[in-house]
Amino acid sequence: MSQSPRLYLSPPDLGTEEQRFVAEAFASNWVAPAGPHLAAFEREMCAASGAVAAVAVSSGTAALHLALRLLELQPGDEVLCSTFTFVGTANPILYERARPVFIDAERATWNLDPALLAAALEERARRGRLPRAVIVADIYGLCADWDPLLAAAARHGVPVIEDAAEAVGATYRGRWAGTFGRIGVYSFNGNKILTTSGGGMVVSADRSLVERAHKLATQAREPVAHYEHAELGFNYRLSNVLAGIGRGQLLGLAARIERRRALFDRYRAALGDLPGVEFRPEPAHARSTRWLTCLLIDPAAGGLDRDTVLAALEADNIEARPLWKPLHCQPLYHGCECIGGAVAEDLFNRGLCLPSGSGMTETEFERVVHIVRQAFQRA
Ligand SMILES: *Cc1c(COP(=O)(O)O)cnc(C)c1O
Repeated sequence: MSQSPRLYLSPPDLGTEEQRFVAEAFASNWVAPAGPHLAAFEREMCAASGAVAAVAVSSGTAALHLALRLLELQPGDEVLCSTFTFVGTANPILYERARPVFIDAERATWNLDPALLAAALEERARRGRLPRAVIVADIYGLCADWDPLLAAAARHGVPVIEDAAEAVGATYRGRWAGTFGRIGVYSFNGNKILTTSGGGMVVSADRSLVERAHKLATQAREPVAHYEHAELGFNYRLSNVLAGIGRGQLLGLAARIERRRALFDRYRAALGDLPGVEFRPEPAHARSTRWLTCLLIDPAAGGLDRDTVLAALEADNIEARPLWKPLHCQPLYHGCECIGGAVAEDLFNRGLCLPSGSGMTETEFERVVHIVRQAFQRA
């Protein structure tokens, strides 16, 4: 039986500028974790995002690890963290031997619930045991509800790390994702909206924090001629070649966001009438990149559940995925406290991401829509 070509969830979408920058890196022999593309990529990301300073690193996970490292946690310190996110958000908490306490998502944004955060901080303040940090993820291209989140954290003086790995180019009240926390983090992994094949970035309005992240990312080398080390560092710097890819990707970012948003709108127009199908909301003050088109399927309304739709897509060689499995449900985090959790569990049980690549063709789009509609007709 002939198989349709594999349709991926979010494949890289490269323009021509990327190759030009990479060729430049080769021509100038800057094939190293140092070089002119790195500084230029950091500068250009600051200009785009409004961050004051940035350091490019080897992954989003490395960037989050550095962000936590900057806060100088002690083993056993508590860190509050989104539960509805990718595991990369929380793993650096364990790298630092700190203790994650997860917090549920809210329905309006699918991101960390501001009311639960406020209550958790109040309760901890009363006990005189505030957490050392809060990590909030901006999931699937949409910012969390930052005004109440930041107000709650500021009331208690708890620093916020913003995991904007999935939200490069998203805005909230006109401001870029990644600029709301004391430290922000981006990912340029192969499936993200801006990719360097693999990479990440630490950004902040506080230049001294970023300078310190830079030092920790380069084995904490002291600024003297020989190799002098007074503290423990990491080898986390991004390659100059990959920073060249990033510069090219940044030039095409706005267009790719438009294409992903248009794709979401077309999916909603083509599938929104199906019984029990509900697309992800976008609050008025936030602009999502629609990194992935996400929807929920209520089996009580349509007689069809998410897994049936997933199986139908897979049978046609189309990659679709359930939404993130909440971290408090992951075996790795078994036994960790979670405040609430029912919303994230419901999103996981009913949620689906459809192929959302910015390079998707009309034929590919029609193929996905056809398979989903057919599955509902057969129900
Ligand atoms: C991708 C991702 C990360 C990790 O980024 P990598 O570059 O893959 O290490 C962290 N958090 C979230 C929410 C992500 O989606």
